[in-house]
Formats: sequence, structure tokens, C-alpha cells
Amino acid sequence: MHELQVTEQILEIALKHVEGQDVSRIVNIHLRIGDLTDLEGEWIQHYFDYLSKGTLAENAKLEIEQVPIVLACEDCGAHFKVTKHELGEAKCPECQDDEPNFRMISGREYTVMNLEVV
Ligand SMILES: [Zn+2]
Repeated sequence: MHELQVTEQILEIALKHVEGQDVSRIVNIHLRIGDLTDLEGEWIQHYFDYLSKGTLAENAKLEIEQVPIVLACEDCGAHFKVTKHELGEAKCPECQDDEPNFRMISGREYTVMNLEVV
């Protein structure tokens, strides 16, 4: 996934949010970004500064919260965290199933949580 595309979407979501409202500026955008996305906060801010020029979100500061990768075991229902490197060979800590079925609970998302406006 490319940072530039994601940043465009984040900006779009933020601007849509304040559309038609009495807002003079977006000052802060709180984001949650999954560890699996490979998105670098520094780059997102960099692209954001560039893309948001001339919009209500110009100079807004991005506050990025990293979200860990969490898997759910379909066999026993346990939830547990893994790192990106462990993902391929993840084993359920509860049932130790050799052929596990996992569902990803979090780690892939990038979500706009909150906007601070003036
Ligand atoms: Zn399990």
C-alpha cells in the first residue's frame, strides 16, 4: 500500500467530515494505523502537508496511534498479538493447533478516529 494514496484518502475523509460545518480549520487528526500496513507516520505527515495545502486541513497535525496485529483463533476463540514477522508461522497460544485457522482482528486498518477543529 502506498503512503501517498492512503494520505489522500485520509485527507478526503477529514475534509468530508467538516463539509458544510462552521469550521475554519482542522488542527489535529487522530489516526489509528495497523502495524501490518507498513505506513510510516513521518511520511504520512510529509505527504499530508503537501496534499492539504490550500484546504481546511492545511497545517493540521497528524496524531498517529499504532495498532498491533491481533489474530483470533477460529478453533478456540483466543485473541493474541503477533508481530509482522511472526504472522506466517503464528500458533495459537491457547490450543497450540498445528493447522490453525486465524482471523485478523486488527493490524490492517487505517482509520480516522477524531478531528480537532477550530
Ligand atoms: Zn486456539
